[in-house]
Amino acid sequence: MMNGREYIESLRKYRPVVYFMGRKIQSVADDPVTAPHVNAAALTYELAHDPRYEDVMTATSHLTGEKINRFTHIHQSTEDLVKKVRMMRLLGQKTGSCFQRCVGLDAINAVYITSYDVDEKYKTDYHERVREYVKYVQKKDLMVAGAMTDVKGDRSLRPHEQADKDLYVRVVEKREDGIVVRGAKAHITGAVNSHEILVLPTRAMSEKDKDYAVAFAVPVDAEGVKMIFGRQTNDTRRLDGEIDCGNAKYATVGGEALIIFEDVFVPWDRVFMCGEYDFSAELVEIFATFHRQNYGGCKVGVADVLIGAAASVAECNGVAEASHVVDKITEMIHLAETCWCCSLACSYEGFKTPSGAYMPNQLLANVTKLNITRLPYEWSRLAQDIAGGIIATMPSEKDYANPETRKLIEKYLKGVANVPTEERMRLIRLVENLSIGAELPESMHGAGSPQAQKIMILRRSNLEMKKELAKIIAGILPDDNYRKIRG
Ligand code: SF4
Ligand code: FE
Repeated sequence: MMNGREYIESLRKYRPVVYFMGRKIQSVADDPVTAPHVNAAALTYELAHDPRYEDVMTATSHLTGEKINRFTHIHQSTEDLVKKVRMMRLLGQKTGSCFQRCVGLDAINAVYITSYDVDEKYKTDYHERVREYVKYVQKKDLMVAGAMTDVKGDRSLRPHEQADKDLYVRVVEKREDGIVVRGAKAHITGAVNSHEILVLPTRAMSEKDKDYAVAFAVPVDAEGVKMIFGRQTNDTRRLDGEIDCGNAKYATVGGEALIIFEDVFVPWDRVFMCGEYDFSAELVEIFATFHRQNYGGCKVGVADVLIGAAASVAECNGVAEASHVVDKITEMIHLAETCWCCSLACSYEGFKTPSGAYMPNQLLANVTKLNITRLPYEWSRLAQDIAGGIIATMPSEKDYANPETRKLIEKYLKGVANVPTEERMRLIRLVENLSIGAELPESMHGAGSPQAQKIMILRRSNLEMKKELAKIIAGILPDDNYRKIRG
């Protein structure tokens, strides 16, 4: 297993093509814009070496029997699923950010499960390829970017109906030694600082979409792969200093990229689905279930930091004991723990798939994520309420550094007498960072937008059974139990 430093060093050996704000990023590990994201991901490596966290951060590979980082593990029990979300809450607490590595973990598990089912039906050998790939990822302790969301063009049209055929990733050539793929994936978390990209289809496909039903893995610097790193709220504050960032060490959320595949060659041993369009929906649903399971872990870990920041600002302001502040903090805790309950529940209610790997309960995982599209807005609102309007008006770090204005800021931004002004400023910036930044849209759309969860919730909720229950109680359908007790 690599540690944090070794992970950062390992990135320097890759040469991904990454653009940001009109320039090329030469070293993702060292560029000031990407380095904080790298640091957050590095903690997924570093904490695996901390004896206090060994149980949640590491696992035993069912393929090799070796000790591995849990981010490369294929879940072998519901206990594994629970440990996964415990690991995510822990990392949310330690980074106050998205640590990115979960998407690849979810992608390898989804493709592991689905490839088994595809092989059962078509007598293909995808599952064996996936097993070999997972062994490779485990052995080298690689970070894998899961790349699912296509750019989609006209959303009312299917992949093959698009005016431009490349708006979903597709196979453009099949060769003896592999396939050639073209297209783009959008909003891919952690892509620029991963070692590998694992591509999955993004939606259910019909026979005419066959070329789009493709899953494969390539290194981030494979020939023909280009990435354009996305902007985030206040991202260039990283270039201005430390305090103004709020969370200078670990950024805010994942760091997403548009990945373009310009006729990229993929050897057959890295192709995990190719044309089996009838399994595309299954793969999507399994991946989505895994990723939706996570959000009551990672986002709640970040909420722990935000709750701590809001409570600390209240102390700086001398209002920590005010009953309405106590009530708001309590409400934030309640909201966060509600989401945590959801992540735990869908994990404990997980089940074994035919492949032998475990996955969470689909209905409850979708409930988890739907709550995350809402409750973080409320706990962020409460944090802003507690911290005050200064989160949007405070003078900059540069004015604090300027001797002409420093004294004035020191004097007039002071809260209670025993807390240094700078401490109050840092906490206010952290509340700003966590409650205004890209965290909220990520909560809304990461792992799928709310409507995607609603579709799954309705599909998995067995509404017919509920109607039957109602009709029995209403006396429309016979009630066998009642008949037994009353004759
Ligand atoms: Fe992991 Fe959460 Fe980031 Fe998704 S949003 S990659 S689950 S930390
Ligand atoms: Fe996400």
